[in-house]
Amino acid sequence: RAKDVGGGEHCRFEPELHATAEERRRLEVSLRKAVLEDEFVLHYQPVVDARSEEIVSFEALVRWNSPEHGFVSPGKFIALAEDTRLIVPLGQWILREACREARAWPEDIKVNVNVSPEQLLEPEFHQDVVDALAASGLRPERLEVEVTESIFVRDATTARNSLEQIMALGCSVALDDFGTGYSSLGYLRKLRFSTIKVDRTFVQGAAQESNESLAIINAVVAMAKSLDMTTTAEGVETAEEAELIRNLGCDKIQGFYFGRPMSKEEARRLFCADNGQREAG
Ligand code: C2E
Ligand code: MG
Ligand code: MG
Ligand code: MG
Repeated sequence: RAKDVGGGEHCRFEPELHATAEERRRLEVSLRKAVLEDEFVLHYQPVVDARSEEIVSFEALVRWNSPEHGFVSPGKFIALAEDTRLIVPLGQWILREACREARAWPEDIKVNVNVSPEQLLEPEFHQDVVDALAASGLRPERLEVEVTESIFVRDATTARNSLEQIMALGCSVALDDFGTGYSSLGYLRKLRFSTIKVDRTFVQGAAQESNESLAIINAVVAMAKSLDMTTTAEGVETAEEAELIRNLGCDKIQGFYFGRPMSKEEARRLFCADNGQREAG
């Protein structure tokens, strides 16, 4: 997998899929300790308006700064955190931290927070969101929760109720990694997502002149428009890809070309520089 974390982060940690049961148990023990001892940090990646290229949001992306393993990317521990339900306390921390940080940004910038199915299906999820907003003083309209299609596989009714509750608060919901899960278009009728995030695989495909990928992006953009939803293209890495995506009519763009995930200090600095999003790359 391509280097997917911000500047200078290295990770020599073996993916858990290849780990033995013993290694997995050890990882679980250190993950449990990490949750208790606050070993996590959030990095923030800009999402820009496709036309103006101005930052409209930052997506919060969690990193585990482990004394034993170094910086561990979420691809290597989120699944285990979900299996062990450690994602519930970790997710509460992520929500609170992201809302508090967003409070330091200009009023028109949103924060996007990824939420796992295990977290969303907890009865306390709604209260966690209410608490994170209250503790930070962030307007609910500035919080966008990101979920993947997988939430509709496990318990679609509970997932939908849970999302409708936070929409009633004024928060918005984005559908992440669209097109890669067990898609059933039925739920697009039932839930008013504000944004559909077109998965990076389609963006890469379109850039390599795959007619199938182009057709799929075109169809998703058209469908989103008629459903009154916006689209964000994920994983845009070059000027050419940005241009292509703009021509395909996506509303927003996220990717290394406009900025890698960065520390909260770096993100704050972008607001001091005039029109500074280029410096993020
Ligand atoms: P995601 O939500 O789809 O996040 C986008 C991922 O794509 C991030 O990887 C980001 O660094 C990477 N990315 C962004 N732009 C580019 C690009 O131009 N090229 C390439 N190659 N990659 C790009 P990251 O941070 O490793 O996160 C991976 C996944 O882990 C996320 O996918 C999300 O599903 C999960 N995750 C991350 N943070 C959290 C969190 O706070 N809570 C939960 N539940 N899941 C999280
Ligand atoms: Mg996401
Ligand atoms: Mg995504
Ligand atoms: Mg993804």
